[in-house]
Amino acid sequence: MSEIKKCAVSKKCGGCCYTGLPYGEQLKKKQQYIEGLLGRFGKVEPIIGMGRPEHYRNKVHHVFDRDRYGNIISGCYEAGSHKVVRVDGCLIEDEICQKIIFTIRELAKSFKIRTYEEDLRQGLLRHVLVRRGFATGEVMVVLVLARAELPGKVNFVKALLALHPEIKTIIINVNNKKTSMVLGENSRTIYGPGYIRDRLCGCTFRISPSSFYQVNPVQTEILYNTAIEFAGLSGGETVLDAYCGIGTIGLAIAKRYEKAGKDGGSQSAGIKVVGVELNGEAVRDAVTNSKDNGISNARFCKGDAGVFIDRMAREGEKIDVIMMDPPRSGSTKQFITSAVKINPKRIVYISCGPESLKRDLQIFKGLGYKAVKIQPVDMFPYTEHVETVVLLSKGVIDSQKVKVEFSLENMDTTSFRGKATYEQIKDYVLQQTGMKVSSLYISQVKRKCGLEVGDSYNKPKSEEAKRPQCPPEKEAAIMDALRHFGMIE
Ligand code: SAH
Repeated sequence: MSEIKKCAVSKKCGGCCYTGLPYGEQLKKKQQYIEGLLGRFGKVEPIIGMGRPEHYRNKVHHVFDRDRYGNIISGCYEAGSHKVVRVDGCLIEDEICQKIIFTIRELAKSFKIRTYEEDLRQGLLRHVLVRRGFATGEVMVVLVLARAELPGKVNFVKALLALHPEIKTIIINVNNKKTSMVLGENSRTIYGPGYIRDRLCGCTFRISPSSFYQVNPVQTEILYNTAIEFAGLSGGETVLDAYCGIGTIGLAIAKRYEKAGKDGGSQSAGIKVVGVELNGEAVRDAVTNSKDNGISNARFCKGDAGVFIDRMAREGEKIDVIMMDPPRSGSTKQFITSAVKINPKRIVYISCGPESLKRDLQIFKGLGYKAVKIQPVDMFPYTEHVETVVLLSKGVIDSQKVKVEFSLENMDTTSFRGKATYEQIKDYVLQQTGMKVSSLYISQVKRKCGLEVGDSYNKPKSEEAKRPQCPPEKEAAIMDALRHFGMIE
C-alpha cells in the first residue's frame, strides 16, 4: 500500500497527478477533498480504496504518429496540446490491452500502414482503442482510420489474432474529419460480433465500441452494491435508472431482486426498472442485456434524462426510487426539479464530478431532499478523480409544489443556461479529445456561431483582442461539442 510508483511520462500525459504518492496518502487527500466540498451536507464516510490500485483500467486508447526519425509511435496527447507523447507503459492501464497496442505498433510497421498526419490530413491510422472484459477475458480492438479500407486487412487480422487469441472482435471506425474526437460516426466490424461481453453483479453485459462502460470493474461492483444498498428496496418498487448507459445499475437491481423472489427469500420480486440514456448504441445494448440476462421487468428508452423525467412528472407517473449517474458535468435543473415533483422515497446520486455534485446537492437541498449518506469510492487511483454515492431523502420539509417553484426562483441557476452548460461542453471535449478548454474559448466559439454568451464574456472589441484566442483544434473540438448538444447544425 505504501509503495511509491513512478511513471516516466506522468507530467506530459497529465492523466495521473498522484504518481509518486503512496496509495494511502492519495486516499487521504481524496477524503479531505470530499469532506471539504461536501461536508456541509452531512458526514462523509471513509473512502473505499482498492486492494491493488494498479492496472485497473479496462479501456486503453492510444493516438498514433511518427517521431522525427519516422518511427511509428503511439501514446497520448501532451496535456493541453496535440503533440503525441510516446507511452511505453502505464501504471493504471490494463497490461493485456497495452500489449495489444504495442503489437499493433509493430504490425503497422511491417504492414507499412501510414499513420495519420493531422496537419496534412494524410495517412491512415489515427487511433487504437482496446477494451477488455476483466471477468470474461474478451477483448475488443477498434482501429480508427481515416478511410474505411485497411490494405492487407485479412493478413493484418490474422497476424494480430495469432499473437493475441483473446481478441474477440475487431472493428474499423472511420474518422475522416478534421476533429479532435477519437471515434467517427461509421464503424464496420471486420472480425467477430462487433461487441464484447463482461460480467458485473451477477449479470452479463454486452459492450459496443461507443457505449459507456465503467473503466474500473473491480471498484464498479463495490460502487453499484453501495448504491443498491442505499436504494433500500424491499420489493414491488419502480426504479428509474437515469443516465443508465448500457443498463448496468438497473439490471443489477432487477437481477438481485428477481433472485430473491425466486429463491423464496423474504423479499419479493416485482421490482420494475425504467432506464433512460442519450446514446442510442448504449440503449440498444441495454435492451439486449436485459434479454440476455432473462430480465423482463426492465425497459430502456433513448432520450435526454431531463426531458424524459419532466414528461414522467407531468404525466403523474409513479417512481419510488431514482438512481442517477450523470456525466462529470452533473445533472440539470430540469431533471432535478422534475425528480422532486415525482416525489420519490429515495434518490441515489452516483457522481464522478464532485464539484457538479455539490452544485446539484445544494439544489436538491433547497427542494427538500437532504443527503442522508455520503460515500466516496476510489474508482480512479493515481488520478485526482473521485466517485461519490449520495443517498438523498426528504427531510421534514415537504416538497409542496409552491415551495418548489418558489425555491427555484431564488436559486442561482446561471450554470444551467443554454442547452449545455460550459462544464458539460468542457467535459465532452475532454472525454472525446483529451483536451482541456477554458470557458473563455467556449464563449468565443459560441459567439462565432451566433449563440448567446454570458454577460461576463461580452467584452468590447478593444478588450477582446487582448485576450488569448481559441486555437483551431480546440475550436473544432468545441464546435463538435456544440453540434453534439444540438446547439448548432
Ligand atoms: N450508469 C451507467 C452510465 C454512467 S455514465 C454506468 O454506470 O455504466 C453517464 C451516462 O450518461 C453516459 O452513458 C452518457 O451517454 C449518458 N448521458 C449523458 N448526457 C445525458 C443526458 N442528457 N440524458 C441521458 N443520458 C445522458
